[in-house]
Amino acid sequence: MEWDRIDYCKWESHDYGHRSVAFFAKKGSARVRIYKKEGGHSIRTFGGGQILDVMKEAKEFLENLQKSENKFVVFYDGKPVLKLNEKLIETQKCEENLEKIKNLHVERLEIEEEMRKETDQIKLIVWNEEYTQIEFELQKAWKFEQDKNFHRFWNRPKCSCPKMDNEDRYPTGNYIVSRECKLHGDF
Ligand SMILES: [Zn+2]
Repeated sequence: MEWDRIDYCKWESHDYGHRSVAFFAKKGSARVRIYKKEGGHSIRTFGGGQILDVMKEAKEFLENLQKSENKFVVFYDGKPVLKLNEKLIETQKCEENLEKIKNLHVERLEIEEEMRKETDQIKLIVWNEEYTQIEFELQKAWKFEQDKNFHRFWNRPKCSCPKMDNEDRYPTGNYIVSRECKLHGDF
């Protein structure tokens, strides 16, 4: 279907700091006006005629737009959970591993969910090992050296090792492990 006219603009709001796009389309007597703000969009239509066709196409346009904008966003459970550092992907020249990196993050989030539910310490230790493997694979996919000192293990679910002290030492190593920690302590 051909549009009679499409106007499309993109801007950054100075007042609120969010990015918005607006999309206006006209087909015969049908008009569609769509605003999209980060995290959602609203569609306003006015006019009549082939309004449903126009809306369908406008929606597809927006979805594709969203997909390309979301290239660096990791989705978990259908929700955007984190955005990968686009600049870092460029400097590391690891764009070819983008899908791999996103999948690894999903695996990591799944492991975190299991760990939150798990009460058995042996199983927790096994999950923790898998978590470590994912972190190594992430380093590889990002084309970084596989170095355990860059794993912030104290942020993992059920870890009770001192967070602030370890954060201060990051990434030099010599991290402090709590003896009572269910993941890293004495068993
Ligand atoms: Zn710990």
